[in-house]
Amino acid sequence: MLEQAQKALKEYFGHQSFRPNQSELIEHVLKGDDVLAVMPTGAGKSLVYQIPAIISDGLAIVVSPLISLMKDQVSALNQAGVKAAFLNSSISPVEQAEVLEYAASGSCKLLYVAPERLDAPRFLSLCKTARLSLVAIDEAHCVSQWGQDFRPSYLRIASFIEGLPKRPPVCALTATATPEVQKDIARALELRDPFTLVSGFDRANLHFGVERPDPKAKRACLLRLVREHAGQAGIVYCSTRSAVEDVCGLLCENGFAATRYHAGLAASERHANQEDFLFDRKPIMVATNAFGMGIDKSNVSFVIHYNMPSDVESYYQEAGRAGRDGSPADCILIYNKKDVQTCQFLIDKSYEDRGGGFADTGAWSDSAGESALADADGASRAIYDRDCDRLRQMVFYCTSTDCLRSFILRYFGQTDSPYRCENCSNCSTDFEVEDVTVEAQKILSCVLRLAQRDRRAGKALIVDILRGSKAEKIRAQGYDGLTTYGIMGAVPAKRIRYVLDALIAEDYLVQTAGGYPVVEITGKGAAFLKERGSFEIKVPKRLPKEEVFVEPGRRGEARGRSSSADAELFEKLKALRFELASEAGVPAYIVF
Ligand code: ADP
Ligand code: MG
Ligand code: ZN
Repeated sequence: MLEQAQKALKEYFGHQSFRPNQSELIEHVLKGDDVLAVMPTGAGKSLVYQIPAIISDGLAIVVSPLISLMKDQVSALNQAGVKAAFLNSSISPVEQAEVLEYAASGSCKLLYVAPERLDAPRFLSLCKTARLSLVAIDEAHCVSQWGQDFRPSYLRIASFIEGLPKRPPVCALTATATPEVQKDIARALELRDPFTLVSGFDRANLHFGVERPDPKAKRACLLRLVREHAGQAGIVYCSTRSAVEDVCGLLCENGFAATRYHAGLAASERHANQEDFLFDRKPIMVATNAFGMGIDKSNVSFVIHYNMPSDVESYYQEAGRAGRDGSPADCILIYNKKDVQTCQFLIDKSYEDRGGGFADTGAWSDSAGESALADADGASRAIYDRDCDRLRQMVFYCTSTDCLRSFILRYFGQTDSPYRCENCSNCSTDFEVEDVTVEAQKILSCVLRLAQRDRRAGKALIVDILRGSKAEKIRAQGYDGLTTYGIMGAVPAKRIRYVLDALIAEDYLVQTAGGYPVVEITGKGAAFLKERGSFEIKVPKRLPKEEVFVEPGRRGEARGRSSSADAELFEKLKALRFELASEAGVPAYIVF
C-alpha cells in the first residue's frame, strides 16, 4: 500500500518523498484507524487524507469550514489530475445536483463539503449508498468549544458519521490544539481509539520579537520594522478594518507596495488584492485575521502584528504564516496596553451577548469585583473565564522577559522546550537583574492591608494609595488612613506598575477578571511577606532606566489627558461594536 502511496505522491503531486509523520499517518489511515493529526501550518496535513483517498476504492468526504478554501483545494486537485468536487452554498441547486450525481458515479475520489451540508437529505442519501473510503475533518479544532474558532455546525459531524451504514476511518486534522482541545476533538467527533500524532510546534526558522513602543511612536515603529524588511513579502495584521485602512494608507504613503484585506471589502476586491499579494505585485498585505487561513504563500518573510490578538493560539497561527519555505523569517508583535483593553472589552461583550452580565460596580467602589459577574449560566461563565485566562497568557507573552519561543511551546504543552533559544528578542537582549524586594514588600503589604479591611482595589487605586495621592476620592474613602498610604511617595507610578505587573506575572498577586478587575494577594504572596522572600525583576540593558520608568508629564496633566483618552477609547470601542455586529455571520469573539 505504501508503495502505491509513494507512487501517487510523485504522480499527482510531484513530490519526491513524504515528510516525517505523513507516511506514518497515511499508513494508519490505510489500515482503517481513526487518526488525529496535530501539525503546524505548512506541515502538509492535506496529503494525510488526499493520498489514501486517491489510492483507495470509494469516495472520501472532506469536511472543511471555509468555502474559499474548498474551491482552491479542489481546483488544485483537479489540475493535478485528481477527481474531486465540492458542495457548498456558493453553487446553484442545479450544480449541486450535478455534483451529487458525479459523486455517486464512482469516479470521483474526494468530495469537499461545508459542515452545514451534512444533514441535507440528498447528500445523506448519497452517503448511505456510495462506498466511502474515509471521512476527513480539516481544521478539526473548530469542533471544540474550547478552541478559538468554534463552529457550531461542526457538532453535527459526529451524528453524521454515526448515521453511516458502514463507518469509514475518520481523520481529524488541525494546526492548533492545546492538550485540552485535542481531548475535546477526539470526544466531540467520537473518534475510536485514534492514532494521535502531535508533531513539534517549534519552527526553528522563525524569529520572535515583541516591540513595546510608546503609544505615540507606534506608527514610527511599524515603519521602521517594514523598512528593515524592504523588498521582502510580509503580512501586517491589524485587529479592525479601520486600522487596516489606516496602516495600509500609511505604508502606501511611505512608498511601500501594500494592499489590504478585510471583511468590509467586496469579494471581488478581496480576491484581486489577495492575488496581488500572492504574485508579489504588492508584497505587503495589511489585513484583519479574516486573511490567511488556507493561504499557501511560501515566501512570507515577516508577519507583524500591529495589534495584539486575544490569545496565543491565534497569534501563533497568524505568525506561523511566515517562513513556510523554511527560510529565516520574523514574527514581531507590537504591544500596546490599549489592545488589552480592547480585547477585554470584546470578551466582556460576547459574555454579555451570551446572557451574562456585570453588576454596575466602579473601580473605586468598595465592592468592586465582588459581584462583578452576575446572571450567567455555568457554561457561559466557564467560557468567559477561559477567554480571560487566554488574554492574560497573551499579555504575559508580550510583557515577558523570558524566552518567547519557549513560552509559546510551553503554552502548547511542549514541556521539554529549552529555556533559551537565541532566536527571539528576549534571548538576544541583555537584561539586568534588579533586586526590588523592598518595593515588592510594600506593594504586597498594601494589598494585604486592604484585604484585611475587606477592601479590594484595582491597579490604579493601589498605585494611588502607595504614592499618597491627594485626590478627593482617596480621602473620601478613607484610604489616606491606611498604614501603607504614601509609603512609595517618591517612586514614579510607572515603576510601581512595572513591579506590580511582575508580581502578578509571578503569581504573588492575581488580577480578577471582569469589567473592573481588582488585585488580590495569593498564598504565594502572603508567604513571601511572612517569610521575607526576595524579588527580582529584569530590565533590558540597552534602555537607560530613566527611559523605562520616567513618568510622562506632571501628574495633574497626565490625569486630565487620560480621562479624555478614556473617553476617546470608549467612543472607538462603541464604533467597533457596530463594525463587528455587521460582520456577516461571524460572532464578535471570532473576528479578533
Ligand atoms: P497544512 O494543511 O498542514 O497547513 P498543506 O497540506 O497545505 O499544509 O501543505 C503545505 C505545503 O507543503 C504545500 O505547498 C504542499 O504542496 C507542501 N507539501 C506537503 N507535503 C509535501 C511533501 N511530502 N514534499 C514536499 N512538499 C510537500
Ligand atoms: Mg491545511
Ligand atoms: Zn528565546
